[in-house]
Amino acid sequence: MTDFTDLVAVVTGGASGIGLATAKLLASRGARVACLDLKPEGVEAPLVGVGADVSDDESVRAAIAAVVERFGRIDVVVNNAGIGAQGDVTANPDDEWHRVLDVNVLGMVRVSRAALPHLRESPSAAIVNTCSIAAWAGLPQRALYSASKGAVHALTLAMAADHVREGIRVNAVAPGTADTPWVGRLLDSAPDPAAERAALEARQPHGRLVSADEVAGAVAYLASPLSGSTAGTVLAVDGGMHGLRLRPT
Ligand code: NAD
Repeated sequence: MTDFTDLVAVVTGGASGIGLATAKLLASRGARVACLDLKPEGVEAPLVGVGADVSDDESVRAAIAAVVERFGRIDVVVNNAGIGAQGDVTANPDDEWHRVLDVNVLGMVRVSRAALPHLRESPSAAIVNTCSIAAWAGLPQRALYSASKGAVHALTLAMAADHVREGIRVNAVAPGTADTPWVGRLLDSAPDPAAERAALEARQPHGRLVSADEVAGAVAYLASPLSGSTAGTVLAVDGGMHGLRLRPT
């Protein structure tokens, strides 16, 4: 039941990290997958890279039109593209707040809006949004990023309510700290990246970072008929951080 044969999936941010792992997994299960990304050049067959900026409505519309032109349908949308921000509420000027919310929240709105007419035609329609434990955890020095992911959580519930009766299920995954190029870049900027990584791993409940493949597995589940009675759920993939009510440090 995680067979995606004949189905078409769109994965935003699909050229790296969680998005790329998800795209590869869906393709391995038979989907034709379009990776919408700012930098689609590195996307390799059978995945199809499509240049798109989710913060630009014209760009999103053109990318979705290109996917439909090429594949004739869209069944699964994985709204995964996102960017980070650090600091407390004093750290980022208004234009930075607008930029991050524009990518992390409105990006999902734009892609969903453009894809919905096609999802309505699908017998197996699903949207999976990439949220984060930042939506719930009260992470220190992540005010803007946390606010953006809190909005993704609420947006997921609202979209699920609006579209479940149309046969379009909307859910989200909420990764803990995942081992992706994004986190690699953060670690590399530390004075001692190896020591920083070891400390970060030690802070996770299960003593290691979440793998991108583990997040991809949760996305594939929520995109597949295996989860056919699940809507409006945000599935934590965080080693138990949220479920066990642990405090991130
Ligand atoms: P990543 O940086 O490895 O990949 C993100 C991809 O998104 C990149 O290919 C980038 O080019 C693309 N992208 C960025 N802005 C874009 C835009 N405006 N339009 C189109 N594409 C754009 O990051 P990742 O760690 O794989 O993160 C993916 C998602 O997972 C993000 O939404 C992030 O918030 C979320 N997340 C990550 C972690 C983590 O620890 N890595 C934890 C929780 C949630």
